[in-house]
Amino acid sequence: MTSDPVAADPVLVEQISGRSAALRSRWRELTDRDVRLVCVTKAHGPEVAAAALAAGLADLGENYAQELAAKAALFALHPPAGPVPRWHFIGQLQRNKVRLVAPHADWWHTVDRPPLADEVARRAPGASVFVQLDLAGIPGRGGCDPAEAPALVAHARAAGLDVVGLMGVAPPGTPEEARPGFRLLVQMADDLGLPERSIGMSGDADVAVEEGATVVRVGSALVGPRPAVRPRSQ
Ligand SMILES: *Cc1c(COP(=O)(O)O)cnc(C)c1O
Repeated sequence: MTSDPVAADPVLVEQISGRSAALRSRWRELTDRDVRLVCVTKAHGPEVAAAALAAGLADLGENYAQELAAKAALFALHPPAGPVPRWHFIGQLQRNKVRLVAPHADWWHTVDRPPLADEVARRAPGASVFVQLDLAGIPGRGGCDPAEAPALVAHARAAGLDVVGLMGVAPPGTPEEARPGFRLLVQMADDLGLPERSIGMSGDADVAVEEGATVVRVGSALVGPRPAVRPRSQ
């Protein structure tokens, strides 16, 4: 018998189950809202994404177009045990990579400029997207100037996209330093009538939940440290 290419390590499955249960019970003490936990498996092999599914986590986050496409294609051929994956594209996206992501992504978190919205609308008509805000003020890190968000939301809608919410990545720093940016994002989502707020990662998830996250993207705190970073070709 050949080995299963997506066999999940039972020890890792157990760890992910325990860690996700702990996160969720902490969050239940912070809010009555439903918080969707996206397990970020970027830079890990498909066996780690399979372990997350085996642990019952259906929402998987990926940053790199090729990596998402490769894992999704593999899982289509060899469906791992557990729920059907719901893929979240959470990385910065070049327009010419949209076609790689389009067949697979359920939610696009990083729409941050009109030409990208247009290309997503062309390749994935009606897709569910977040408009990404730049909360860090660091050029090249992705996200639009918050002042431009209302126009970008309108642009994406006019292109036929379903804008479900706003997404943001806090600037480097302590969890407390993430709070003002998260608060601004939640306020803007309220003002724009957008129900979803994709904020918070391993280091600042609790602050994000306190401030109104509906989607939290957690990698290392669920699946452990990432292996050496891959070349940033997306
Ligand atoms: C990598 C990444 C995450 C997860 O980071 P962790 O610190 O490992 O939880 C979440 N969101 C985005 C946009 C990322 O790039």
